[in-house]
Amino acid sequence: MQKKLVVVAERCPQNHPCPSVRVCPVGALTQKGFAAPVVDHEKCVKCGKCAQFCPKMALVLQDN
Ligand code: SF4
Repeated sequence: MQKKLVVVAERCPQNHPCPSVRVCPVGALTQKGFAAPVVDHEKCVKCGKCAQFCPKMALVLQDN
């Protein structure tokens, strides 16, 4: 089944540098200021690593 990374912005306090941006192996996540990160779905390989590093569970790898 195909997976998709979803950013649940309402769960993100948007007040700190996103730790998940740093762990993405392909640079698919970007953050402007302290806003919730944005995912580039063209780059994302759906590994789920970012989801493990978000303490607020704002990054979710979902079945598409
Ligand atoms: S699922 Fe993997 S490739 Fe996609 S944004 Fe998260 S860490 Fe990067």
